[in-house]
Amino acid sequence: MRLIIMGPPGAGKGTQAAVLAGAIGVTHISTGDIFRLNVSNATPLGVQAKAFMDAGEYVPDDLTNSMVRDRLSKSDCGAGFLLDGYPRTLEQVGELDSMLEGAGGCVDKVVELIVDVDEVVNRLVKRSADQGRSDDGEGVIRRRLEVYFEATAPLTELYEKRGLLVRVSGMGAVEDVSGRVLEALGVNA
Ligand code: ADP
Repeated sequence: MRLIIMGPPGAGKGTQAAVLAGAIGVTHISTGDIFRLNVSNATPLGVQAKAFMDAGEYVPDDLTNSMVRDRLSKSDCGAGFLLDGYPRTLEQVGELDSMLEGAGGCVDKVVELIVDVDEVVNRLVKRSADQGRSDDGEGVIRRRLEVYFEATAPLTELYEKRGLLVRVSGMGAVEDVSGRVLEALGVNA
């Protein structure tokens, strides 16, 4: 299974992606985590990505696309994967299509987590206090939400037209949300 999980910052994408990838038996690929790892190791990619991330902006498509292309070529993606945080722009959708076409495949399902915006802001402010992520300051949180609704939310319509979109409520306890997603995907875990 080749899956994508989408939803605004704070929707619980990362948490759900880890649970779902484990339950379904596919590789979890979080572009945010890969960028953060590169930033903490001060790799050339991390050095380039950091300023964008800290400002709540997207890392440029060319950097992001080549990182994902490289990651998807690894053998642990052969049995399937769950993309968390990619694609986020129309250009990334086109790139992903061509990466998968090259491997004779396509995306099987796209899960959109639907959440209340006030609730996600509360969650992000709380995460900021707990984890101290450098892009979790209040102004940056607002910018990340704005960028999401401008650049990424419209992509769900595109996947809906392709008949791949599954919308699931992201509100409530972690295990309730995972249960709903697995049910919507028709997976008995
Ligand atoms: P969130 O969904 O909470 O914003 P992520 O961990 O998914 O957090 O992403 C953190 C940051 O990493 C984003 O704000 C952005 O700067 C960068 N990033 C992650 N994925 C992408 C992507 N596909 N395209 C561009 N930038 C990305």
